[in-house]
Amino acid sequence: MANLKKIAVLTSGGDAPGMNACVRAVVRSAINNGLSVNGIYRGYQGMIEGDFIQCEKHTVSNILHRGGTFLKTARSDDFRTKEGRQKAYEQLQANEVDALVVIGGDGSFTGAAILHDEFGIPVMGCPGTIDNDLFGTDFTIGYDTAVNTVVDAVDRIRDTAESHNRLFFVEVMGRDAGLIALRSGIASGAEAVLIPETVTYIDELIETLHTGYLQHKTSAIIIVAEGDDEGGAYEIAEKVGKKFNSYETKVTVLGHIQRGGRPSAYDRVMASRMGNRAVEALLRGETNKMVGIQRNELVLVPFEKAIKHHKQINQELLNLVEILS
Ligand code: ATP
Repeated sequence: MANLKKIAVLTSGGDAPGMNACVRAVVRSAINNGLSVNGIYRGYQGMIEGDFIQCEKHTVSNILHRGGTFLKTARSDDFRTKEGRQKAYEQLQANEVDALVVIGGDGSFTGAAILHDEFGIPVMGCPGTIDNDLFGTDFTIGYDTAVNTVVDAVDRIRDTAESHNRLFFVEVMGRDAGLIALRSGIASGAEAVLIPETVTYIDELIETLHTGYLQHKTSAIIIVAEGDDEGGAYEIAEKVGKKFNSYETKVTVLGHIQRGGRPSAYDRVMASRMGNRAVEALLRGETNKMVGIQRNELVLVPFEKAIKHHKQINQELLNLVEILS
């Protein structure tokens, strides 16, 4: 067992629904284990500036069901410098923090790993990003909620598409990963899903649409991941429109509505489990690892692996889009 008296928790990078559930779990699990807990506002920037609060059980009351992160989040350029991290470490020392839980994405874990290497402070990560683009975990906190938000939006769009015989291109988030697009595409019955992990062929897409049209499909929905190699939804719609105009074409970019909102039950439960496991792992003397979930079991994945390796896209799901289109 590690000799810890106080830990701190922060959220960093893009916000994701379920981060609050994870913070709550870290705080209450720590208190349950006799530890004192600090929350750090605004990620690494708040750490550098000494923006710490003492957390009690009630500090994290009524946040489980809220999107975003009550600790706020930030991107900190200062933390990328040695001087910045030195200041951050001095603040941790001044507040007598013995170990740290970082809830964020691969950038946040890179920062945590560097802090650990430079100053030896134990660090544990919980994957918080809607993109689900971290290796070593089947799901990240916020992904399930974001997918549900997309599916809800696409269901509404389909009503209009169907009523007007339209072709809709719906652009979803994910940066250079197509995981939100793929899962929401299957759940919403999209005619095609365009993702950066596979090469998009406009002619093939047109053929799919044309076949559907000949088979009396009166509308079509194409989900476009924002990082697709052929461009965003507007660009792709234009390229398709030059050769195929059997339907009236519309484009919807879902944007930031995908980030917010109440976390799904799945995200709340998973985030709670991960937060609790992060505290337990630190108490066992583990460090420099991310809590992941694989086949519904919690696992510890070294930061190095989570950061450097690339998550593979699920071929079965890819095939399913084509089969069911
Ligand atoms: P998201 O997936 O939502 O973007 P993220 O954690 O990957 O989350 P980043 O903006 O990449 O988000 O990183 C968050 C913060 O982590 C950065 O603003 C910076 O303070 C710190 N960080 C990232 N990379 C490094 C690095 N190489 N060295 C030190 N700190 C870093």
